[in-house]
Amino acid sequence: MVEDTSPAHSSEEEEEEEEEEEDDGEIRCICGRDVDKGLMIQCEKCEVWQHGSCLGIKSDKQVPDDWFCSDCQQELEKVIFFFNNVLKVILIVLWYFRIVLLLNLLMNLC
Ligand SMILES: [Zn+2]
Ligand SMILES: [Zn+2]
Repeated sequence: MVEDTSPAHSSEEEEEEEEEEEDDGEIRCICGRDVDKGLMIQCEKCEVWQHGSCLGIKSDKQVPDDWFCSDCQQELEKVIFFFNNVLKVILIVLWYFRIVLLLNLLMNLC
């Protein structure tokens, strides 16, 4: 038994043309000028554009794969600093527990 499932009518195509807002990511360079000029580099995190020349980058080859603007770099440094401190605390706690464990072992031996 074969059921003939022919489409009655093609679904209406809703073409959404939202190409008016093409400038996603504003230009926020360290130089303070929002001019699209020369080699532009976009931040991976906040999608802000900065001038390559202002960052000492002159060619496409010099652009790193994951580049972060100065603001995001500061944020990242804060996060790294925070995690380093957390790691230190964890290590100290572990060290402390190891001493407690050793003391317990010694107490049991006596
Ligand atoms: Zn600039
Ligand atoms: Zn950024």
